[in-house]
Amino acid sequence: MTEKLKHCPFCGGVAVFDQGIAAGNGSATFSATHYCVTLQTRIQTRNYGSEKDAASIWNRRMEPVSRREEVTQP
Ligand SMILES: [Zn+2]
Repeated sequence: MTEKLKHCPFCGGVAVFDQGIAAGNGSATFSATHYCVTLQTRIQTRNYGSEKDAASIWNRRMEPVSRREEVTQP
């Protein structure tokens, strides 16, 4: 099953998986990457052992400030 990557929060563009090979043991590595037209730079996760791990990092999003305040206030 292919993992889904969220769209870029800055430009709304599509992110893709990039597969590589680990220098140490030759195992496959996976990262999520995107060239952002708004930031004019490449955004990329670190390399992980599976698409699932790379996707879980890429798909993390900060909570909006208003919702964070609700959480931290007694
Ligand atoms: Zn972008």
